Amino acid sequence: MHVLIVEDDDSIAEPLSKGLERQGFSVRRESTGLGAIDALASDGHVDVILLDLGLPDIDGYEVCRRVRTTATTPIIVLTARGDEIDRVLGLELGADDYMVKPFGFRELVARMNAVTRRAQVTSDTSNDSIALDGGVEIDPRTRRVVVNGTEVQLTRKEFDLLRLLATDPGATHTREDILEQVWDAHWYGPTKTLDVHIASLRKKIGDPGLIETVRGVGFRLRTATPIATEPPP
Ligand code: CA
Repeated sequence: MHVLIVEDDDSIAEPLSKGLERQGFSVRRESTGLGAIDALASDGHVDVILLDLGLPDIDGYEVCRRVRTTATTPIIVLTARGDEIDRVLGLELGADDYMVKPFGFRELVARMNAVTRRAQVTSDTSNDSIALDGGVEIDPRTRRVVVNGTEVQLTRKEFDLLRLLATDPGATHTREDILEQVWDAHWYGPTKTLDVHIASLRKKIGDPGLIETVRGVGFRLRTATPIATEPPP
């Protein structure tokens, strides 16, 4: 597995890269955000990115954002503060996971395996496009979503969320299940992140009723457009 470590602090990056190399990982290290962007552009083969937030040039948030405009490479953010987590995994950034410093090496390796496995699963499952109610179409292969012929731009998490709901339209997916599958099994953070993504998806799709809220449980997709009832004469 090829790992890109983006970290300006040698006292963290050195032992980290040595440890990962000992475990058989192939490691490339960058100490600036722009260096990381360049590295990704020139050397496409990176399976997972370990990204520090506080970098000397552009910060980790910006790196995340720029990477996501072109690549879906899994990103694990290395942060010193737990309260940054919501922002890290939030709407536009699209990081896959985070570790709060100081972190355990074994746990990091486990998470790296988890995010790469998940990335594999998302790219491997059926590539047939899925037609939903309300003229919404999902193309898993290109990760594009078209609503009545017009493409809508979704973030990585928004897409994964819609795709998950679309695996079984009409079935209710519990909040826990969604958080586990789209975010991660160890996500115990504020679940408002999920609501924020649902709200944003509804807005982008322009058909707020397509994603139905099952109060206290979770969400499901509407399977048939309700027929407008004629008012009684
Ligand atoms: Ca730093």
